[in-house]
Amino acid sequence: MALCVTSLRSGGLIATYQCQSACPHCLYRGGPGRSPDYIDQGTAAACFAKALSLGAVTMHVGGGEPLADPLGLAGVLAAAAETGMGIEYVETSGAWYDDADEAVELLTELRSMGLGSLLVSMSPMLNGFVPLAKTLGVMAAARAAGVAVFPWQEHFLADLKQFDPETTHPFAAYLHHFGPGYPAAILDRTWIHLGGRAFDLFAPALGRQPVETILAKASPDCLRELSDTSHFHMDLYGDYVPGLCSGLAFRVDDLGAPLDSERYPILTTLAESGIAGLYDYAAALEGYEARTEGYVNKCELCQDIRRHLSERGWFESNELSPPEFYASI
Ligand code: SF4
Repeated sequence: MALCVTSLRSGGLIATYQCQSACPHCLYRGGPGRSPDYIDQGTAAACFAKALSLGAVTMHVGGGEPLADPLGLAGVLAAAAETGMGIEYVETSGAWYDDADEAVELLTELRSMGLGSLLVSMSPMLNGFVPLAKTLGVMAAARAAGVAVFPWQEHFLADLKQFDPETTHPFAAYLHHFGPGYPAAILDRTWIHLGGRAFDLFAPALGRQPVETILAKASPDCLRELSDTSHFHMDLYGDYVPGLCSGLAFRVDDLGAPLDSERYPILTTLAESGIAGLYDYAAALEGYEARTEGYVNKCELCQDIRRHLSERGWFESNELSPPEFYASI
């Protein structure tokens, strides 16, 4: 059955893929090396209008780092006000924080434009790039500015407090301190979607399996995952990211009707015949060969096949987007 997304539940707007941090579990492979492109107000308004027309009444703003460009974020908040989209929260890594007074001033101004709640990232993965002191500084500044704070995820605070808060600590320091079982313990404690960079981070805990095993146990199609709108995303380029399948995309304008199989052959193959279908498709068309070290799950195989297609010139396709996602693998 063709992929067709006719209603939306809860989702986010990716304002930029650039971030001062490059967390080893980032689903979207954000980082300093990504383009500084930031969503413009018109694109944000078009995304919000489309989401509203399909039933989503609130969205969050994420990235990358949405606060890397405060003026750009002001444009997103203006677009939300203009279209009637409610903003649940804006995400931040806190990397931009330098001075308490300046942070309060900035957040107060953004609050007057509609920023009601700030999700402040807090994790051992982020601590490799952002000292805990900055994370706590942003939280205090938000409260002082009258912006609600949503620490994500606060249960990591006890782990972070084991280290000097004034500086960064790479994930390797956590492995050294808590032992090699730490990644597995993280997966026990919290849900982290396996996608983007997370495959490499958690492969030692989860192991990798040969392609034959992955294909044998995979579901016959990916329609359920691609149609999942419980945490959807739209991005600065006017693309919709189906499910949590980062690196796959179709135009926001194409929401609401069955996808054209000629315009979207990869998504159509995945929706109709799953990872086995994509594997056969890429092997026949572009000589894809599975790697010997295997894969964590079908989604890592999917990402690897898509990387191969991107390298073989498919980076201009409508559905392997943004191309930088694959260039960063
Ligand atoms: S195999 Fe690909 S399309 Fe299917 S759920 Fe995983 S990432 Fe999404």
